[in-house]
This record gives sequence, C-alpha cells and structure tokens, in this order.
Amino acid sequence: MTEGQVELAACTPEELRALLPEAPAYRAGQVFRWLQKGVRAFDEMTDLPLPLRERLAALGCLTAPRAARRQTARDGTEKILWRLSDGQGVESVFMRYRHGNTVCLSTQAGCRQGCAFCASTVGGLIRNLTAGEMLAQVTGAAREVGAPVSGVVLMGIGEPLDNLDEVERFVRLLAHPDGLHMSPRRVSLSTCGLIDGIDRLAALALPLTLSVSLHAADDETRTRLMPGNPGVSALLDACRRYFKATGRRVSYEYILLRDVNDTEDRAHLLGRLLAGAPAHVNLIPYNPTGRGGFQPSRPDQVRRFAAAVASHGPSVTSRRRLGQEIDAACGQLRRQTGQNVVQ
Ligand code: SAH
Repeated sequence: MTEGQVELAACTPEELRALLPEAPAYRAGQVFRWLQKGVRAFDEMTDLPLPLRERLAALGCLTAPRAARRQTARDGTEKILWRLSDGQGVESVFMRYRHGNTVCLSTQAGCRQGCAFCASTVGGLIRNLTAGEMLAQVTGAAREVGAPVSGVVLMGIGEPLDNLDEVERFVRLLAHPDGLHMSPRRVSLSTCGLIDGIDRLAALALPLTLSVSLHAADDETRTRLMPGNPGVSALLDACRRYFKATGRRVSYEYILLRDVNDTEDRAHLLGRLLAGAPAHVNLIPYNPTGRGGFQPSRPDQVRRFAAAVASHGPSVTSRRRLGQEIDAACGQLRRQTGQNVVQ
C-alpha cells in the first residue's frame, strides 16, 4: 500500500461515492461489488469504463495479498500463509464443516498479549491489519480453495479486541447486502478477555458470537498462562454484561494442557463458575508449539474433564482436531518460516 492511497476494499459504497464525485452515483455501487468480490486487478472490473478504472487506480489500491504457502490436511482443512503488501506474513485456515465452510482469519500481524502457550505472540505485535486485509483473507481463501465461505471466525493471529475499529468495519462490510452479505451471526470473535473491548463490542450491538479464551478458572493458573488476565471474576462480569446487552450466549474456550489445567478439581471449579449462566464450553486440544513445554491432555482425561464441567449445567463440546498435521494452531506456519516477514 502506498502512503496516502485509500484502501478501496475497506470503503463503504457511500465512501466510494465521495471518492468519485464526477462519476454517476450507480458506479460507486458497481465498484463496491467488485471490491467485495476481492478483485486483484482493476482490469477485472470489466463493466467499468477504462477512464474510471484509471481514476480508481490513481486514488487507491487493491488489497491483494499473495498466498505464499498453502498446506492441505487429510480432512480437507487448508492453511494459507499470506504475504501482505509490506511483506508481513499472516495466516488463515479454511475449514470444512457439514453446515458450510468457515475461514479462520488473522486480525493482527503478531500479537502483544503474551500467552505462554501461543506461537502468535512470539516477536510481539508488528501492526494491526486493516478491514480490507481481513476481507481479502475471506475472498482470497474462497478463491484459493475454489469453494464458498459461509462463516468467519476471528481466531487466527492477533487479538481482535485490540483492533476493534478495523474489526467492526470488516464485520459491517461483510454484512453489506451488496457485498458478501454474511450476517454477523455467522461471525465468531475470540478474545483473550480484554474487558474494555468486551464492553465496547457489546455497545456496537452487532449480533456476533463472543468466544472468550478462558483456559483456567483460577487466577493463579490463568495469569501464568495469560499474563494480561484481568481476573477471572471481572472477566465473567464483563461476559454477563455482554449477554445482557446482546442476548447472545457467550462461548468459553478452554485448551486442555496436561497436568496444568486439566484435573477434575479444575473442571468442577470451571463448572461452578459458569453454573446458571448461559454458557457454552468448548474444550480445545492443545496443538504443541514447543513454547513453554506444554503437552496436550490425554483423551481419557479430556472425557473426565468434559463430564465434570457438564455436571454443573453448561453445555460442553470438544473441538474436533481439524488440520492437526498441518500445524493449524495460530501463528505456527508464520513462525515456521523462521521470520515474520515472508517472501
Ligand atoms: N487472541 C484471541 C484470538 C486468537 S487465538 C484469543 O486469545 O482468543 C484463538 C484460540 O486459539 C484461543 O483460544 C487461543 O488461546 C488458542 N490457541 C493458541 N495457541 C494454541 C495452540 N497451540 N493450541 C491450541 N489452541 C491454541
């Protein structure tokens, strides 16, 4: 992206109209539809007159990250490492579910949250991604794989609530009837638990699904795993406010780490904390990253843990291990290249 140029794919039809005051109003709508399809060159906008295409090229840029690497797992999960315009590498994962295809996308290059088990935070935060770069991961993944996308999860590299303005713009673009027209109900946002961010998100009144990466029900363990922990009880209060404001049940993610947070007493603690709240617990198998020496829990322990939590009322699921052999955990592919910037 060149300094001073507008990122066209992040513009609403109204903003495009303001950029093109000399063109008839309907042209902005045409341009918007092309941009939301993820065109990679102005020449692809075949129903626009050449002078208008040239005018657009002078005003702004297209967001067209290149797929630098792609890995396919036996279960059909695909992982794509994108090279952004400034060389930064970010990852998306394309997952096939019975109810449709979902793309897991990155919201930042790097991450500043410092979670002890996560590969994305090694090297810290480089920069926020733009709404256009988030959209390009959706349209780009659909094009690379050759299949439509019906859901989005913001669970790739980065902390979406640390980049909420761009995330909000992205979710609104995604929902636009002249664009991909994907309801926010088909979008899940996963956070490590930034309380201000959860409150701001609640105030936006977007009906997306909030997933909170809880990973421990006691503060001692949670702070060890997630140094930014604001305190489990303050976090659950924010989740209750989110439910009150939006009516959307909150999902809690819990990575099971052997002998760290997977004992039955921890499961009962978690179950008691969430008892009575409209909550869903998603147990995530740990994908070893080599960081912190953590190991995944044994399968029988996962079953015991799930049953103990469920005995207190919350619904509990165990995430299927999609794409395990392709290092599908956040940030792994990017780190594997040995550097953040990819060629
Ligand atoms: N920053 C946000 C979203 C990105 S991480 C968040 O913290 O929720 C998406 C999910 O993957 C989080 O629950 C995160 O804790 C989890 N995760 C990170 N590294 C992982 C690993 N190696 N194996 C399994 N899950 C991991």
